[in-house]
Amino acid sequence: MPGGEFGKRQAGKRGWKTAVRRERKVKIIATLGPASDTEEKIEALFLAGADVFRINMSHSSHEQLKAYHDMIRAVERRHGRPIGILVDLQGPKLRIGEIADPPAILEPGDTFVLDDDPAPGNAERVHLPHPEIFQAVRPGDQMLLNDGLIRLSVLEVEGGRIVTRVIHGGPLSSRKGVNLPDTVVPLSAMTEKDRENLDYACALGVDWIALSFVQRPDDVATARKRVRGRAGVLAKIEKPAALRCLREIIDLSDALMVARGDLGVELPLESVPGWQKRITRAARRAGKPVVVATQMLESMIENPSPTRAEVSDVATAVFEGADAIMLSAESAAGKWPVEAVMTMDRIAQNVESDPNYRDIIRSQLETRPEPTTADAISSAARSIAETLKVACIVSYTSSGATGLRIARERPEAPIIALSPRIETVRRLAIVWGLHCVLTDDPEDLDDMADKACRIAYREGFSMIGERVLITCGVPLGTPGATNMLRIADVTADTVRMVKQAEAPAPCAPATPTPPSKC
Ligand code: PGA
Ligand code: MN
Repeated sequence: MPGGEFGKRQAGKRGWKTAVRRERKVKIIATLGPASDTEEKIEALFLAGADVFRINMSHSSHEQLKAYHDMIRAVERRHGRPIGILVDLQGPKLRIGEIADPPAILEPGDTFVLDDDPAPGNAERVHLPHPEIFQAVRPGDQMLLNDGLIRLSVLEVEGGRIVTRVIHGGPLSSRKGVNLPDTVVPLSAMTEKDRENLDYACALGVDWIALSFVQRPDDVATARKRVRGRAGVLAKIEKPAALRCLREIIDLSDALMVARGDLGVELPLESVPGWQKRITRAARRAGKPVVVATQMLESMIENPSPTRAEVSDVATAVFEGADAIMLSAESAAGKWPVEAVMTMDRIAQNVESDPNYRDIIRSQLETRPEPTTADAISSAARSIAETLKVACIVSYTSSGATGLRIARERPEAPIIALSPRIETVRRLAIVWGLHCVLTDDPEDLDDMADKACRIAYREGFSMIGERVLITCGVPLGTPGATNMLRIADVTADTVRMVKQAEAPAPCAPATPTPPSKC
């Protein structure tokens, strides 16, 4: 990878505090939880390779969310690198009521009733505290309980009773989840609790809001209205209904997640890998970041090393060109959170340096540029970067839009995304290949080229004598105006300017006890 080796060498040689740069394109998301709830642990995950942290609101209060947020921002300040925060809303997760003497054992062939009676249930019946469902289910629909372990088939619906036949039996205890793969449930993707969490998270200044159990494009539209641009909106694809209108959901979302946990309950497990490919490709084609999630290194909840199958699974997502791969319980509640991140990092680096990697991610789909200036520039940038073997592409991207379009090209050269907006550099932390740096808008065209070279050198992406390729927009500092490409040389002057900027400030003459070094 051009620049990668140099980056390492330079960082070591210079010995000054080096920015954390990743030696891979794919990003890593680590979910926080009891195994990672101190600043030290979060910092260790960041140093091991986590680019974005996910806070799961199924298990976190406002106070915990605020605590996580503050700790992440402290780590961000200490290392001078933007870190993304993704808040995952619980969504309309359906659950049964209480079971009197758990577990109740359901036997195949028995009838089982779900009703509107709050009395504790048994092996014959249970309360279903979601009145909307009684109107929505039809005879023949499947109902899955307990993560899909128990499979019921609806025989009839009469008022407040759903009578079912047990297809696969098993033990059932209180408040287990209910999945309805065949039914479009007349529930919005946000509950009252989700709305409160969304408002609180946006006010805190998180970067991404993830919506669970999205069923229709309108679910995303509703959330967008409430978020009002304060965060990116990520749609979790985990319902068969969402697959039927994937195109429209992608159009309305800022990012997607292949949420394989619930998707694998609602669909036959063997169809999930195919859907993972289809969703990843559709998102990549649209230039929207896509995350592959759930059970990626599941056995590392208990063990310090993964199974062969898990390594292959992570590798597959990287070969598919996903923007990010995610850890759930592995980092939130497992015994080896840091090792799990390091394992993902190692797998990603290995895959990306495999001789077949470039061919595979490029031949999977054709991401033809759309007829816009930004796409024309982005695709030209990739081609010039290849022809000239530039050390890196430096892209001025105020809103982040150009950063996304360049990443969509999946170029081989590293990409540095520069923005004066902290929200932009944090939000882009989830995107394939982008090394994001917060910096002021350049003053003029010379400053634009100098600044790009300085940052490329300082962040360890280029050496003296190498070239960088710059994309930016004139007039400078106007969002959405990317319209120019420039090639610039990293020179001895660049290095002098970087060293100057980093030299300790001269001591003030009136300091009572001047530090001895000055
Ligand atoms: P969850 O979503 O962890 O919130 O359930 C991810 C998934 O279903 O895969
Ligand atoms: Mn889920």
